[in-house]
Amino acid sequence: MTCPICSWSPNIPDYPLIYETAFWLVVLAPNQSLLGRCIVHLKRHCGDGAETTREEHLDWLDTITVIETVLHSAFSATMFNPSCYMNLAFKERSPDPHIHSWIVPRYDHTVKVAGIPSKALVLATHMITRCGLICPKESVK
Ligand SMILES: [Zn+2]
Repeated sequence: MTCPICSWSPNIPDYPLIYETAFWLVVLAPNQSLLGRCIVHLKRHCGDGAETTREEHLDWLDTITVIETVLHSAFSATMFNPSCYMNLAFKERSPDPHIHSWIVPRYDHTVKVAGIPSKALVLATHMITRCGLICPKESVK
């Protein structure tokens, strides 16, 4: 099985690269219903945290701190849910996980970008990217 993360990393339109360190890449997740939701993945293919180096771990901590600081500054994120599951890879017959984690900002307020509520931007982005801007009447139910 080809590792899905290695197949789209480092940069495809659905996962735009927003930050890079010596060991990690940070991309925006396609689902931006929580504005700034990111995926942090190791640059090299590795599926077991026990096989990562001390330098990679420390760089991951610095990376999380940078992303959280930026999201807090830009959108006043209330708190963050960093997580690392990798469960999906183990649903495959021959699992080939790639270490990655999610940074999910949470908000206790409506986030606006250029005065527009982020939920409206998410809907507009979805309509543009998934429906070709103008949805056929049949698909809007
Ligand atoms: Zn990989």
